[in-house]
Amino acid sequence: MTEIAKARQELIESGLVLEHQGFGDMTRGHVSVRVPGTPEHYFMKPHSIGFDEITEQNILTIDLESEIVAGTSRPHSERYIHSEIFRVRPDVNAVIHCHPLHAIAFSATGHLLRPLNQGGAMFSGHLPVFTETMDLIRNKAQGAAVAKCLGAENAVLMRSHGVVICGGSLAEAVVNCVMLEEACRIQLLASNIGLDGFEFPQEDVLALRHKVTRPDQFQVNFDYLVRKAKRAYGL
Ligand SMILES: [Zn+2]
Repeated sequence: MTEIAKARQELIESGLVLEHQGFGDMTRGHVSVRVPGTPEHYFMKPHSIGFDEITEQNILTIDLESEIVAGTSRPHSERYIHSEIFRVRPDVNAVIHCHPLHAIAFSATGHLLRPLNQGGAMFSGHLPVFTETMDLIRNKAQGAAVAKCLGAENAVLMRSHGVVICGGSLAEAVVNCVMLEEACRIQLLASNIGLDGFEFPQEDVLALRHKVTRPDQFQVNFDYLVRKAKRAYGL
């Protein structure tokens, strides 16, 4: 299989996982991956379909000006998020924007994410919050503002809207998304009883962060999530 065919297959599989994880919010989520060998182009899920409905036929190819290079599907108006992140982050090869329930609820509290579990250790201190608007990101300037808020991190909470997650690979971005949603859910659950202020030493948190962000960990867990989603959908 060529690198391009592999990237397109992983885009389809990422969509299955993101829908199976409950991140779809009907048709509103989107995911993209940079075209191997052509870093100024990316493949992206189209508008009007669920994450689990991406096919070889409906994938769009888009450039960094957010213009359609190939494909006839309707594009997401929020593709500027993807273009502007790919433009300023050469290390990023995959971008997800979606509306995970607990991440949105947590974003609306205004609290900072704490290292209460493994996902919390990954993202505490590494989770900027975008507060310029709760509306859709529909032009280049707004996309650039999200990319600026993201900075050098791999996730940004969009207050009362959703999340933008990225990674060096689709595997990394998808697993990041799952782990961020879980961390937000755990903090919301723990907050119901009340947080006592205890935290493990920062060096312990950093050591755990290092362990759970190894590339092999992302791939192993992504591959599992793909198998699990395919079983669930009878594929
Ligand atoms: Zn959105």
